[in-house]
Amino acid sequence: MGSRVVVWFRRDLRIDDNRALIAALSGTSSAILPVFVVDPKLIAMSAMRSSYMFAALRALEQELGGRLNLIYDADPTAVVEFASSVGADEIYATSDFTPLGIAREKLIKEKANQSSIATKFGDSPYLIPPGRLAREQGGWYKVFTPFYKALMKNGYEAPMDVDRSVLGRRIEVARRDEEAIVKLASTPLFDEAAFPASNSKALEQLSNFLVRSDGRYKELRDFPAEEGTTKLSPALRFGVIHPRQIVDKTIDVPGGEPLVREVVWRDFYANVLFQMPHTTWKNFNPNFDYIEVDSIDDPIKAAQFEAWKEGRTGYPIVDSAMRQLNETGWMHNRLRMIAASFLVKDIHLPWQLGAKYFMEHLLDGDIASNNHSWQWVAGSGTDAAPYFRIFNPIIQSEKFDPEGRFIRKFVPELDGISSKAIHDPYNRGESGKYFEPILDHNEARNETLDRYQRLKDHFADSETKTITRN
Ligand SMILES: Cc1cc2nc3c(=O)[nH]c(=O)nc-3n(C[C@H](O)[C@H](O)[C@H](O)COP(=O)(O)OP(=O)(O)OC[C@H]3O[C@@H](n4cnc5c(N)ncnc54)[C@H](O)[C@@H]3O)c2cc1C
Repeated sequence: MGSRVVVWFRRDLRIDDNRALIAALSGTSSAILPVFVVDPKLIAMSAMRSSYMFAALRALEQELGGRLNLIYDADPTAVVEFASSVGADEIYATSDFTPLGIAREKLIKEKANQSSIATKFGDSPYLIPPGRLAREQGGWYKVFTPFYKALMKNGYEAPMDVDRSVLGRRIEVARRDEEAIVKLASTPLFDEAAFPASNSKALEQLSNFLVRSDGRYKELRDFPAEEGTTKLSPALRFGVIHPRQIVDKTIDVPGGEPLVREVVWRDFYANVLFQMPHTTWKNFNPNFDYIEVDSIDDPIKAAQFEAWKEGRTGYPIVDSAMRQLNETGWMHNRLRMIAASFLVKDIHLPWQLGAKYFMEHLLDGDIASNNHSWQWVAGSGTDAAPYFRIFNPIIQSEKFDPEGRFIRKFVPELDGISSKAIHDPYNRGESGKYFEPILDHNEARNETLDRYQRLKDHFADSETKTITRN
């Protein structure tokens, strides 16, 4: 038996521009065993997202000529046992910078070391690995625009394709657990045409988008009734496409820069979470630990939370947003902001409850982008919207879905209503046709502002204006 290496796939479910795979191929080993570990604990977190992952694995398996090793195991170090069992002396993988990914990598490195297996982990799912960009004056970037400028100045690598003929000759299969094969064969819960799960289809979606949007991304991206964004977030979440591949195709296209900027927000939040892992579920700005929030144990709040989740708050823009999430596993960015603001600043529940619900339902659920975007809305995050900026769901609806085209798609019971009434049917002469709003936005807004004032007073009275968390 010649030497063998394992290539462990994680959030990099593609072969082109997969630096772990490319590094393994350039080594001297004779055989490469590509492997994915299906962890039953992780797949239980979200049926939607797992469904996308299985589709992406099917596509990856195809790219590998049907030769993907599959392990079904909840042990985070199962890949080491696999490497041992096949006599491999190296494991290659792309590093994962989430708190969970880092913890797993540590365990794997320790166990591999005990078995004299070398771990060659590198690259990242980002343009620049988190932790790499430092400010000239020291420290890391807590504000987006300077981070963006520094990243663009620093530059990023160009994508690299894999040599398919060399790859084809060297792949070996040693294990394919039946439970994992069954999972991979499950029927998708999402629309594969809208959310491509293979690298070639994701690249094609990007090219089509760039032609179709014709440089108007910036203009269209806020309107949910338009096909104004790429819908590549699930593909990015699982590394079906790498941001290098997106930026490479986009940066020189007229009107492409605003899209690159959005892709860099993803890098930015990954970096924030890497620098401050406790901000996964805790306020980045600890002063916000003192803002008054209502409790889900209050039956009125529990009922409002249910109405929010199910899309029956009586505010059609919020309801259509939540129904889009529940039905498709994706929500338009503008609507994510509106729906999140409604939960935090109208219902007054903690942002963590909404973030958790989003993570359970989003195809693209990503702990850094999701939880830090929630904190942006809540005002507790880095570079966040000021707390006193409160989205008015009716004005947002009139501005970003003026004729109610998007609302009509997801709230079909409002289909026959005029474009004026659709934003607030209960108060605009259509009270019989839709739910009564679960709360009055203006009252809720005033309550939010009062709470914010009390927070400010608290710090004005106390000796320290701000607190720092250890
Ligand atoms: C409350 C809330 C929760 C969110 N949760 C997630 C999440 O779990 N996963 C996720 O990928 N994005 C999240 N976002 C960011 C954004 O809404 C989605 O990335 C975007 O809607 C995905 O659609 P798209 O691929 O068509 O985006 P496009 O507009 O085509 O943008 C291209 C890519 O840029 C990145 N991007 C765009 N906007 C943002 C942003 N504001 N922050 C970070 N990255 C961005 C995404 O990777 C996206 O796929 C959240 C935003 C909010 C307000």
